[in-house]
Amino acid sequence: MLAGQMMYQPLSIASLIDHAARYHGGTEIVSALTEGGFERTSWAQVAENARRLASALTHRGMQRGDRIGTLAWNNRRHLELYFGVPGGGMVCHTINPRLSPEQMAYIIDHAGDRMLFIERTFVPLIAPMREKLTKLRGVVVMGPRDPESAAQLPGVLFHDELLAEGDPGFAWAGVDENDPSSLCYTSGTTGNPKGVLYTHRSTLLHALGANQPDGMGIGAADSVMPVVPMFHVNAWGVPYMAALAGARLVMPGPRLDGESLARLIEDERVTMAAGVPTIWLGLLNAMEANGMEKTSLRRTVVGGSALPPSMRAAFRDRHGVQLVHAWGMTETSPLGTMNAPLAKHLDLPFEEQDRTGNGQGRPLFGIELRVVDAQGRILPNDGETEGQLQIRGHWIVSQYYGQDGSALTVDGWFDTGDVATIDADGYMVIRDRAKDIIKSGGEWISTVDLENIAVSHPKVANAAAIAARHPKWDERPVICAIRRPSVELTEEELLAHYDGKVPRWQRPDRVIFVDSLPIGATGKVVKASLREDYGDVLWDDAMKELDAEMTQGRG
Ligand code: ADP
Repeated sequence: MLAGQMMYQPLSIASLIDHAARYHGGTEIVSALTEGGFERTSWAQVAENARRLASALTHRGMQRGDRIGTLAWNNRRHLELYFGVPGGGMVCHTINPRLSPEQMAYIIDHAGDRMLFIERTFVPLIAPMREKLTKLRGVVVMGPRDPESAAQLPGVLFHDELLAEGDPGFAWAGVDENDPSSLCYTSGTTGNPKGVLYTHRSTLLHALGANQPDGMGIGAADSVMPVVPMFHVNAWGVPYMAALAGARLVMPGPRLDGESLARLIEDERVTMAAGVPTIWLGLLNAMEANGMEKTSLRRTVVGGSALPPSMRAAFRDRHGVQLVHAWGMTETSPLGTMNAPLAKHLDLPFEEQDRTGNGQGRPLFGIELRVVDAQGRILPNDGETEGQLQIRGHWIVSQYYGQDGSALTVDGWFDTGDVATIDADGYMVIRDRAKDIIKSGGEWISTVDLENIAVSHPKVANAAAIAARHPKWDERPVICAIRRPSVELTEEELLAHYDGKVPRWQRPDRVIFVDSLPIGATGKVVKASLREDYGDVLWDDAMKELDAEMTQGRG
């Protein structure tokens, strides 16, 4: 048997930061400080600090595979941990600070974190639970020494002191590419949080595969702003892609409101950004309120929940910003599909191009998708048949952390829990989450469609569609909508907006105007909580109608 004769180098996260330091060392990293203000460092400095951290953690007894928790915003110190922890052979476990203290304690314990890096502002959050976190060997405050934190958390360490004691010449741990590098828990929007343990190899292949021209498309000349939090699926891999490409990074810190982001984009000449639709809604409103037309921003990758076509059009037509729709989940690292046209689309009329561009896009190289029915039979890729979306590929979970058994179907696919269509070119459209879809008289109604129509109404600021229980149809659609400030909008007016846009039987039965929607830890509307509040609003009236119908029928 003839052996291949090419060099072997493990696909490691250390190789990313080494590349950035060697060839893009002077490229700037701009970072918003949690306490206000900004600081500027470079890839060379981040790389040196990452080595110092890896060295300090190793000398303090952390071993290969040990989980190091982080509770932090998008900033320079978090970036150092992104590279330093896996570079030292340990696992960077990012924790969502918006979780409840109980969930947080559960996750830290379940992950078996041995060290925890936290923003100074989280000291009061961690101090009361510190004693219960028995697996933890130490807590590190991400900043210089401060007496207040030291008083609240006895024995606490400080990030900047670890940097000072670490060796800048530390040799990276020689990892196997299948060693774990980071750990992220699903946000628990649907069910208990589950851990996904990424490897060096999956992370590298995801960064390479998702940063193609039809993907994130980040280049060395870009100024990239990951608004997607670093505690959410490795910030969609953006920090790793930025190192790979040698791009400039602008880290927004904790202030993610539209005004702050608009200012940061303009001050720092951001060209490319990534985040969930609610963030861009805030930015859009801020830009319109301030009469900002032109912007340095050229492209924004949007995913995590469905991007409303009206928002994509507003950014494109009014501000010249291209919104690229992407789909993925914690279990898929996260990027599975991204939307870019094929050559044949370019000659089509605008409306047809636009229709394709509004969907979640097609699989990146390294990913395969299929839709199946409830019995697991494979359905056609005809762009119409809805089924359960399944995925496999180089950066897809195979087993949840700490759970026995595979997370896959018997033939090796991961079931996403989403309902989708796929067309002959592979373009996928998410119709709903299986748990959210409205089942009316045996037919399915997509909440995504109903929400897109609601938010395309000029007087609607945001909306969510839910299934309300119904004695005759099982479930019927109800819209929870937020009106734009100081406008009049009636239920009838909004319902009339559905005419001609959906078949009559899909028109919502009721509109409930609300002041706000419940938003979960990852910026998504928590439909389960809306269903709890409004799931019975149709019941009494519908029962009366049904009684009347039956009485009439008998008479
Ligand atoms: P959680 O499941 O806890 O919300 P994830 O961030 O892993 O955490 O969520 C993944 C889910 O988000 C997907 O299964 C899908 O339902 C939804 N999602 C992600 N991107 C999109 C998108 N572009 N359009 C519609 N839904 C999306």
